[in-house]
Amino acid sequence: MREGSDSLCPSAEPSWRGAVAFGIIGGSPAEPLAKYLPAALPVTEALLDLAKPATPPEVFRFAASCLNSGCVHFKGDACTLASRVVKLLPEVMDRLPRCAIRASCRWWRQEGVAACRRCPQVVTENYNPSDSMRAAARPPTPVAS
Ligand code: SF4
Repeated sequence: MREGSDSLCPSAEPSWRGAVAFGIIGGSPAEPLAKYLPAALPVTEALLDLAKPATPPEVFRFAASCLNSGCVHFKGDACTLASRVVKLLPEVMDRLPRCAIRASCRWWRQEGVAACRRCPQVVTENYNPSDSMRAAARPPTPVAS
């Protein structure tokens, strides 16, 4: 775990300290849909190798401690990525998906059920994003000093 946060980012990179895999991307390139694992798995070389020839964040969802103000998406005391996911993406689940990291998830703590109904379409490394996905992923513009 990284210091400074007890919340988990559900769109983390596998290289972050303490990262775990908690979902596998399914669906289609145009309509990705993650399936969540019954339990989060530690990141190992063997797990990362399963993604080849794709990159691990194209195939898996990883969670790791939220970077808070160290992340381009964090503003004030909130994750703006979670806010944009809820505002800009359609719901893809009509029920709460079973999710191994929910108790610690930053998006759940901040946005509740609305985040979980949209979360499965998120691919951390997405080379074919929809316009709305592209907009959701765009960090806030820094205030000019
Ligand atoms: S937003 Fe919901 S479904 Fe997505 S990782 Fe967090 S708790 Fe799980």
